[in-house]
Amino acid sequence: MNADLHCHSTVSDGCLDPAALVRRAYANRVELLALTDHDELAGVAEAAREAAALGLRFVAGVEISVSYVEDTTIHIVGLGVDPRNPALLAGLADVRRGREDRARRMADELERVGLRDALAGARQFARNPEMIGRAHFARHFVASGLMPNVNTVFEHYLARGKPGFVSHKWASLDEAVAWIRGAGGIAVIAHPARYHRLSSAAFDKLVADFIAAGGEAVEVVAGAHTQEDMLRFARLARQRGLLASRGSDFHGETESAVDVGRCNPLPPDLTPVWSRLP
Ligand code: AMP
Ligand code: MN
Ligand code: MN
Ligand code: MN
Repeated sequence: MNADLHCHSTVSDGCLDPAALVRRAYANRVELLALTDHDELAGVAEAAREAAALGLRFVAGVEISVSYVEDTTIHIVGLGVDPRNPALLAGLADVRRGREDRARRMADELERVGLRDALAGARQFARNPEMIGRAHFARHFVASGLMPNVNTVFEHYLARGKPGFVSHKWASLDEAVAWIRGAGGIAVIAHPARYHRLSSAAFDKLVADFIAAGGEAVEVVAGAHTQEDMLRFARLARQRGLLASRGSDFHGETESAVDVGRCNPLPPDLTPVWSRLP
């Protein structure tokens, strides 16, 4: 089953609009797609329409930004959520509201190292003004010739510890999982290999807290995972009885290592999260 349950459109920081993303997934022979924009469900209706027109199985999704211990940002994907659920919509709107102030603080910090007008530049790349994020700053600095690609901008300016990074308070883990479950969805720990700030004990605690909150799945196959990561999180899924998810985290052709629908298969003994999706 070619399921891709993690990707982004222009509604957050992807490069394709929702319909174009769905057409690309279909062309890449995806059989089940979830659109999982950051903190926003506004692309789901358009994606669902396009998927229905093509006969592609589609579920609504979202990737919620969460602040966990020691100011670590965690991403929790929700799959199969009701995109009209009022509590989920209100929670996401709250999370989005912090982004404008964060973007201003980022621009102020960037100005201190001599990069002027970064906010105006980033806005040019944010098609959804409520969803301005680091990727939009990165694209602006690539377009202005400062850096050759977005990865390099992150490395020099936007990653933690770099001049444009500011700390920010997102949703709590419990809130994110409760919103997803309340909207009938399944909560998934996104790209677990990316949380290297957490000690191994803190990561185990995250998994325990996530399960206690009602979380049920983990991305075993993810665009950012190496083969070794995949094996490690397959083991975790077995040990903790978690459902296994698979997602490219595709953002755009020139930015993403893995195209939509082109990630590795899940190990066959795991229970895929889509066994529980409509
Ligand atoms: P934000 O929610 O504004 O903090 O932006 C997070 C997004 O930035 C991620 O979803 C990725 O799209 C992008 N991102 C984070 N780290 C990197 C990186 N090292 N290289 C390229 N893109 C990154
Ligand atoms: Mn992103
Ligand atoms: Mn993410
Ligand atoms: Mn993502």
